[in-house]
This record gives sequence, structure tokens and C-alpha cells, in this order.
Amino acid sequence: VLAMLEQQILAAVIAVVSGPGGVASFLRGNLLGKGLNGPSLPLDVGQADQIPAHLRRLTALRDQGCQYPGGCDQPAAGCEPHHVMHRADGGRTSLGNLKDYCWWHHHVVLHELGWALAVRPDGTSQVRSPAGKIIRSHSPPPRPG
Ligand SMILES: [Zn+2]
Repeated sequence: VLAMLEQQILAAVIAVVSGPGGVASFLRGNLLGKGLNGPSLPLDVGQADQIPAHLRRLTALRDQGCQYPGGCDQPAAGCEPHHVMHRADGGRTSLGNLKDYCWWHHHVVLHELGWALAVRPDGTSQVRSPAGKIIRSHSPPPRPG
């Protein structure tokens, strides 16, 4: 009887908490605000040719500006996402493989001049010039405030 009662209480709690009209959904919606309070969207779209708008917005929200190691003061509005592992090398279009850089650092330094980028799991990164010069970031990207 006790096990059956526990089962019924658990079922009632799950019904209140889960689903689109549940408490968890309501709290999530209020925490995330208007811009992110919508349908679920994939954080990894595989080897897509285009970076979807929601992944661009999430990368900008997470990175808060150009992530070039050593400092760059371009705000998120002046940045675009770069595939850390290039698509040609099997890199995925996913939040984990995107990082925001300003136009100069993205197109000129990383793509044209060939500086090699490495990102660590803690969010810090380093770049290495073709001549071997290394620049490291010293802290993870800032948290959205
Ligand atoms: Zn930059």
C-alpha cells in the first residue's frame, strides 16, 4: 500500500512539474526572458552550411564580445561566430564549437594569416602564429550579466 501511495504521489508531482504548462517550464520561461523563451531548438545542427540565428544569438550571449586571446574590445554586436574546428576538418555547427570574434580577428587573423586557435574545456583559449608566437587568454569568457 505504501509503495502504491508513493507511486501516486510521485505521478501527481510529475504532472504538476513537467510539460509545457508545468511549473518547471514556467520558471524556465521567466528566467530566460523574452529572447530565449520559445520552442526548444538544437544546440548542434551537424555540418550545416549556415549557422542558424539562434546559435548566433546564443554564442553572442555567452561570449559577450570578441574572444581573441590577449584582449579585443569589440562588443558582441560587432562579432560573428567562428567554427573552432573548421567545417572542412569535420567541425560541427554547434554551440560548443562556435566562438565569437570581431571581423578582423575572424577573417584576417584566423583565416587569412593562419593563426591556429585552440580552445580548452574551461573556455580559455590560445592562438599560435605561423611563426610560432603564442598568445593565451587568462580567464574563461565572462558570464552573461
Ligand atoms: Zn577581435
